[in-house]
Amino acid sequence: MLALLKTIREAIANWWSDFTLQTKLLAVATLVVSLVMSGLTFWAVNTIQQDARLNDTRFGRDLGLLLAANVTPLVAENNLTAVAQFSQRFYSSTSSVRYMLYADESGKIFFGIPFWEPEVENSLLTIERRIQLPEDYPGEDDKPMVRQHMTPDGAVTDVFVPLTVDKKYLGVLAIGINPNQTAVISTNFTRDVTIAVFITIWVMVILAGVINALTITKPIKELLVGVKQIAYGNFKQRIDLPLGGELGELILSFNDMAERLERYEEQNIEELTAEKAKLETLVSTIADGAVLIDNNMQVILVNPTARRIFGWEGNDVVGSNVLHQLPSAVQMEITRPLYEMATGECESAEFRIHLNQPTKRTVRILLTTVLNLQRESIKGIAITVQDITREVELNEAKSQFISNVSHELRTPLFNIKSFIETLHDYGEDLSLDQRQDFLKTVNHETDRLTRLVNDVLDLSKLESGRSYNFDAVDLSQAIEQTLRTYQLNAKDKGIELLQEVAPNLPLVKSNYDLLLQVLANLVGNALKFTKAGGKVAIRAYQLTPKSNSQHKSPQVRIEVADTGIGIASEDQQAIFDRFFRVENRVHTLEGTGLGLSIVRNIIERHGTKVHLVSEVGIGTTFWFDLTLAE
Ligand code: ADP
Repeated sequence: MLALLKTIREAIANWWSDFTLQTKLLAVATLVVSLVMSGLTFWAVNTIQQDARLNDTRFGRDLGLLLAANVTPLVAENNLTAVAQFSQRFYSSTSSVRYMLYADESGKIFFGIPFWEPEVENSLLTIERRIQLPEDYPGEDDKPMVRQHMTPDGAVTDVFVPLTVDKKYLGVLAIGINPNQTAVISTNFTRDVTIAVFITIWVMVILAGVINALTITKPIKELLVGVKQIAYGNFKQRIDLPLGGELGELILSFNDMAERLERYEEQNIEELTAEKAKLETLVSTIADGAVLIDNNMQVILVNPTARRIFGWEGNDVVGSNVLHQLPSAVQMEITRPLYEMATGECESAEFRIHLNQPTKRTVRILLTTVLNLQRESIKGIAITVQDITREVELNEAKSQFISNVSHELRTPLFNIKSFIETLHDYGEDLSLDQRQDFLKTVNHETDRLTRLVNDVLDLSKLESGRSYNFDAVDLSQAIEQTLRTYQLNAKDKGIELLQEVAPNLPLVKSNYDLLLQVLANLVGNALKFTKAGGKVAIRAYQLTPKSNSQHKSPQVRIEVADTGIGIASEDQQAIFDRFFRVENRVHTLEGTGLGLSIVRNIIERHGTKVHLVSEVGIGTTFWFDLTLAE
C-alpha cells in the first residue's frame, strides 16, 4: 500500500516536473484565483442565507407574539373552540404558516393545525401527544424562542411562544413558518452562478492553455527544432503548419530562408565539385609528379606522373605509409626531412636524386608543408617530383658542346695564328712551296672554323622557327650536286661513292637549300665513319602507295647507306639530339654533334621523319620519304 502511494507520488512529481516554470506559475495562479473566487462566493451565499434567516426569525417572532396575544385570553378561558376557530382562520389566511401546535403547561398537545384529528380525542382511546421542546427552551419566560430546523419537506422556522396570563404559564404555542421562498431561491441561484463562475474560470484557463499550446507553443517549438536543424546544417528542414497571422508569416519566412540556404548549398556543392574536378584534372595532367601525404606519412593523393616515376602503377598506395613505398634511394634522402617538416622544424626542402628503379632517371624532389587556412598548423606535406633526366642530359651535352666548340675553335684558330705568325715573321726565309703549304693549311683551318660556326648558326636558325618556302624540287639534281661536292673527298679516302637514282623521278615538295644540307650532312657522316675500301650510296626511288599504307599519296624515298662502323642500338635515338656524339666517348673523329640535329629538324619541317637501320661493324642506312610536288 505504502509502495503504491510512493509510486503514485513519484508519478505525480514526474508529471509536474515535466511542465515549464511558466505553466506551473499559471496553474498556481489559476488555483489561487479560483479559490479566492469560491471563498468570496461562499461568503456571499452565507451572508445572504443568514440575512434570510434573520428576517425569518424576526418575522416568526412577531407572528408568534401576535398570535399568542390573540389566543392567550381564549386559552385562559379554556375556550378551545374559539382557539380552534381563530387558529383555523389565521392558518388559512396566510401561506407562511406550515403548522400550529398548542400544548398545555405539562407539554401535552391539546390542539394543532393541520394534523389535529378531534375524532381521536373523542374516542375512548385517547392518544396523548406531547410537544418536543428544544433543550434550551427557556420555559415560562415571556420571550418566544426561534430556531431553524430542516425537515424532509425543506427548511422550516420553528417559533415557540409561551402563553402566560398574569405571569401564569398556561402552555406553549409552536408555529412552523415556511422560510422566505425568494430568499431561498435567490440564494440557490447565487450559489449556482458562483459555482458556474468557478468552473468557467478553470475551463477558460484550460481552454486558453490548450489554444496557446496549439497556436503558439507548437509552432514555436517546431520553429525551434527547425532553427536547430538549420544550425546543424540540415537545410532540407521545412515547417508544415497551416497558420495565419504573424506566426504564419514567420513560418513562411523560415521555409523561404531554408529553401534559399538549400539552393545556396547545392550551388556551393556544385561549384566545389567543379573546382575539385578541375584541380584533380590539373593534378593528373601536370608533367610533374605530385604526392600529398598527411602528418603521419600516409598517402592522401598521388597523380599518374608520380605513379610512373616511382613505379607505383597498379599499386594502391593511397592510405599506406609513403616511406614504405618510395624507392630506397629517395627514402634514404627524404625520411629525416619529412619528419622534421611534420613537426614544423622546416618548411621546405629540395633534393636531386638519381633513381635506378623502375628506370634510370634523375629527379628533383621538392617538399613543401601544407598549412591550414589560418596558416597555423601543418596539415600535411606536398611532394613534387620533377623528372629532370633530360634536363641533366641536355646540360651535360651542352657542357660537352661548349668544351667541344671551344676545343674545335681553339685548334683551327691556334693553327691559323701560328702559321700566319710564321709567314709574317719568317716569310722571306721560307721557300715558295713552303709558303704555299702554310697558306693551304690556314685555308683548311678557316674552312673548319667556318663549318662549325655555320652549323651552330644553321641549327639556331632552324630552331628559331623561321618559315621556309617549299617548291617543286628536282631530286636528282640535288643528289648530283652533293655527289659532286663529295666525290673528291671519297676518292681521297678510297671510298666508292654510288648514285642509285630511279629514272624519271617526279618532282618532290621541298626546299632545295635545306635538302642539300640534309644530303651533305648524311653523306659527310657516311664518308666520315666509313673506312677506306668501303661504299657509300645515295638512293632515290618512288614508293608504290599501298592501299593499307598510312600515306595514300605517292612518295619518294631517299636513302644514304654506308658500310661504315655502324651505330650501337642504344645510341640510335640519341644521335639526333643536339651535341650528341658517340665519339665523345671515343674522341677520334672531328665533328660538332649538330649535323643529325639539323637533319632531323629539316626533315620534320617537311612533315616527315628520318629513320635509320644500323649494325655495328656492318654499316648504316639513313632514310626519309618526301611527298610529290602538286
Ligand atoms: P657529327 O658532327 O659528330 O657528325 P652528327 O650529329 O652528324 O654529329 O652525328 C652524331 C653522331 O652520330 C656522330 O658523332 C656519330 O657517332 C654518329 N653517326 C652519324 N652518322 C653515322 C654513320 N653514318 N655511321 C656511324 N655513326 C654515325
